[in-house]
Amino acid sequence: MTESSEQRESKNFVEQAIDEDLKSGRFSGVFTRFPPEPNGYLHIGHAKSICLNFGLARTHDGTCNLRFDDTNPTKEETEYVESIMEDIRWLGFEWDSLHFASDYFDQLYQWAEKLIEEGHAYVCDLNADETRQYRGTLTAPGRDSPYRDRSPEENLDLFRRMRDGEFEDGTRALRAKIDMASPNMNLRDPVMYRILRATHHRTGDKWCIYPTYDWTHGQSDSIEGITFSICTLEFENHRPLYDWYCEKLDIHHPRQIEFAKLKLSTLLMGKRYMIRLVKEGFVTGWDDPRMFTIRGYRRRGYTPESIRSFCADVGVAKFNSTIEIVRLENSIREHLNRIAPRRMAVLDPVKLTITNWPEGRVELNEAINNPGDADAGKREIPFSGQLFIERDDFREEAPRKFFRLKKDGAVRLRAGYIVDCHDVIKDDEGNVIEILCTYDPDSKSGSDTSGRKVKGTIHWVSAEHATEVEVRLYDRLFMVDDPSVVEEGQTFVDHLNPDSLQVVTGYVEPALAKAEVGERVQFERLGYYIVDEDSTAEKQVFNRIVPLRDTWGKIEAKGKKS
Ligand code: ATP
Ligand code: MG
Repeated sequence: MTESSEQRESKNFVEQAIDEDLKSGRFSGVFTRFPPEPNGYLHIGHAKSICLNFGLARTHDGTCNLRFDDTNPTKEETEYVESIMEDIRWLGFEWDSLHFASDYFDQLYQWAEKLIEEGHAYVCDLNADETRQYRGTLTAPGRDSPYRDRSPEENLDLFRRMRDGEFEDGTRALRAKIDMASPNMNLRDPVMYRILRATHHRTGDKWCIYPTYDWTHGQSDSIEGITFSICTLEFENHRPLYDWYCEKLDIHHPRQIEFAKLKLSTLLMGKRYMIRLVKEGFVTGWDDPRMFTIRGYRRRGYTPESIRSFCADVGVAKFNSTIEIVRLENSIREHLNRIAPRRMAVLDPVKLTITNWPEGRVELNEAINNPGDADAGKREIPFSGQLFIERDDFREEAPRKFFRLKKDGAVRLRAGYIVDCHDVIKDDEGNVIEILCTYDPDSKSGSDTSGRKVKGTIHWVSAEHATEVEVRLYDRLFMVDDPSVVEEGQTFVDHLNPDSLQVVTGYVEPALAKAEVGERVQFERLGYYIVDEDSTAEKQVFNRIVPLRDTWGKIEAKGKKS
């Protein structure tokens, strides 16, 4: 969390609700949970919910549980359980206790019998189609099921036989007896149990009836003593049902509070989108550095701190809106600017030869690791007569404001000398293949007595000492604000950025030779990079986390002007 968000004075509506209930004595503490369905990998939206639930518990000295909402046996897998736990830990949180909604199946079953006995639930024989017809619409009330007035005894008998496997899948359901004319569709006798023969990842074949989400969620919260059940806006209409179940069962009654889902421009977090990206090979997997999953951001090089501080900064909202992706990108820039050591790397090299440099001489020059952090110390960089600089930092002819190197011009080489370009060597096609310069011996960085002022400073590496590496230049996967909006006949994949990955060969200074997988650095003047797990003893692989500046913002601004 950033300082500003920790010191923030005004409280958001969730915190206000919490304060209210603590003050009134309704609850004695802040007990929250994060309740993922183990049917996929966590994405950046889930990070928002994780930070909120774990964060509130932390700031109030409460607890936060991890509960897998595993009521849907056909879609859930153990693989997801593992990955979700790993991702939460990576984000920097640890649950106070771990639960599975399926652990409550027995208790839920007993509670269902209680509601039946008290006349609050009945077994309904309508099939799915009929049930839909009876439910009515948003404008028309529903009709009572012909099975609604069965006696508690008959209902209990039928329900037990449902459990014992006497009926085919889908032929009967247990429904709560509420109000078929309610303006809230969720209260029109919602289904509590359906018959479904499916093997569950934890309870195996013990059950052939499974509880619905609504019948499970609030009761699971209640069993765990949760006080604030925080969920996203689409459950606002489910709150009356959440409350109804707790009241009818007369059990501990948590408070459900809804907030708006995190939506970020240029991203598609929905499962169906992400599955298609992976399955059809638009990305290399769930941890592709361009993916919106937590593992994607992790491999891309994002830090847990940057994601946490982003979540704190965007805050919680009551209404849906879209957050600009640059805010997430700025968050990682801001963190890495503070912690990442500076290194020099040349990604599109052209040779620069210093013609007055003594043959064979190598100097070790001192360079500061991080100008903003004195503790980061210094390192030595070898300087020689044969360097690589960035092709883009040289122009044979250049406009007046081009403060890099041009023919008959001068530039400072960072942690080196001022050089003056006097000539170039070209290939047959007229491309510059070598830049010839002289250096000014009095202009050494740190002990400059030349008295000269040059406008530009560029980075470089010594050709003989640099290491060749693979650099993966990642960019945004989608080029538009909302990739789900498409023209007729198109799908979201038509918005994919064809240049979201470019692979180049780069040259890095020797201080990076021993950089290990996961190390993050700033390539001076270029951006932030991380050593990827694909690195081998022969060749390091660097991922671009984010460029130093937001180039997209500029491109978009230009586009809007014209
Ligand atoms: P998706 O379909 O995108 O995976 P989901 O809501 O089905 O999302 P769950 O596993 O049910 O995923 O979500 C676990 C928790 O994370 C829930 O409390 C849910 O409200 C929350 N959550 C999911 N997406 C977001 C989001 N974009 N912003 C904030 N919270 C979210
Ligand atoms: Mg879900």
